[in-house]
Amino acid sequence: MSASDLQAVIGTDLETAQMYMEMSGGDLETAVSLFFSMSADTGAPPPSTAPPPPPSGCVLPLALQFLFGAALSSSALPESWTAQALSFTDPRFSYGIAQDKNGPCGVLAALNSIFVTKLSAYQPGVSASPGPDVVHTILRDVVLKCRKSAEDEAMLVVFEGDDVSKYSVVAFPEAYNAEGACDFSSPLGLMKLLLSLVETRGVEQVKAESATFGDTSQPMVSGPFSLCGTELINLILLGSADGNVAAYASVGGGKVPAREDVEVGILTNEEEGVPVADHFKAPKNNVWVVHGGDHFTMLFEGAGGSMFLYNGLQPNRALHSLTMIAGDWGSPAPVAPAEHTPTQYRMEVGCVESIVQAHPDDKKENPTAWRRRRFELCLVNEDMVRVDKATAERPEGVAKGDSYDLGAAPVVASRWRCVSCYKDRFTTYCFGENPPGNAVCKFCGTPAGGNHTIWRTYGELGAGTKARIDRGESKLLQVLRTRWRGCDIAVGGKEIGSEEGVVVAI
Ligand SMILES: [Zn+2]
Repeated sequence: MSASDLQAVIGTDLETAQMYMEMSGGDLETAVSLFFSMSADTGAPPPSTAPPPPPSGCVLPLALQFLFGAALSSSALPESWTAQALSFTDPRFSYGIAQDKNGPCGVLAALNSIFVTKLSAYQPGVSASPGPDVVHTILRDVVLKCRKSAEDEAMLVVFEGDDVSKYSVVAFPEAYNAEGACDFSSPLGLMKLLLSLVETRGVEQVKAESATFGDTSQPMVSGPFSLCGTELINLILLGSADGNVAAYASVGGGKVPAREDVEVGILTNEEEGVPVADHFKAPKNNVWVVHGGDHFTMLFEGAGGSMFLYNGLQPNRALHSLTMIAGDWGSPAPVAPAEHTPTQYRMEVGCVESIVQAHPDDKKENPTAWRRRRFELCLVNEDMVRVDKATAERPEGVAKGDSYDLGAAPVVASRWRCVSCYKDRFTTYCFGENPPGNAVCKFCGTPAGGNHTIWRTYGELGAGTKARIDRGESKLLQVLRTRWRGCDIAVGGKEIGSEEGVVVAI
């Protein structure tokens, strides 16, 4: 279905129809209902997603306002972005674009990823840094992708001095020239690229695309650490500022059509339980931007088939060589189901309600090797099942989660935790801890028998419980397992979770 089909139905101009088609992920029916629901009151297009009007005195160009919000002057913009050069030859860094300050990690991970796909020399252990002409060619291709049509020109921002707000826009020259306009290695290098992308795509287009996903009351770079979301990363990787990286459309919820042209993938910790789009899990190259929640790194296959994780930011700047212990780097990526179905089913007695804690003594002894610890589990009891009865029952054919025997009541001589109290901890802030000698709970009077937590070593746990603990302990494993189900990883020969001293920050 095309925008002109939609135009015929809703009777708007083509551009408006296009916007609704994009918002609906290309689905005509969704686009029609979206149009009528959004324009029901006023007959007007949906409310503008533009940032709030600039305070009087704001002189920043629109593209800058859209990126950073309506600051009063360019000096108020985050230095982590405005002083970020695209320099590949900084002697302090043995690999990757040199990043000095926290902020632009997402766009730098995206750019590193593009460079590693284009340059065989952009490899660990290879000292050659790309020359300015090579950088020019690769970055021009990034900008070319942002054109709305093949007839449009790629644009290049040329700063008048060292003020990021004073620039003109020219056609992006095909060949590098040393006169300065093509130089990305000096401070403002990253800003030159980002503004060139936005000016090429057009501020209005970027606004409309980024409005299809995410919090549009915020500029593209926001928060106390001036971080960007997937809008800016997708603008670099795909040439569009639609920030949706999930397998399902942000409006309508249908599965996003698979793309064949995705060179670099994206993996994230899938916080909401919604899988990442298939083409981001299985891109054309074995290179992924890795989103660990509040930071971005790069995972890539090096020459010879080794996998590397590159984190460009201090204090965790490192190039880790990853070995797979369980699993296979070459295994096919999981494919998201045609429809997103939440898999939360009614609690069942004996299953894990929560993992309360790792044993404090074991934590002290094994500060990073969490698989050497004992864990306290709170199991589901009859009361919890009764309260949970509104949730759908587990259908036949879906495996039950790990379940455990509650066993006998703890001997009165030991500490124990009252489950009757613990299950209501979020409203009462009572964690039900009882000192030795209490046969009944000191808070609620319930006897210990049938009302206590259990302790198990990691090795005694079921696979699902182990996976749940691993997820909480290692963001890297959590993210990798979205692509390589159940994998286990060693770094420098040491298995993550099992051996001490292996920490990979992402
Ligand atoms: Zn109690």
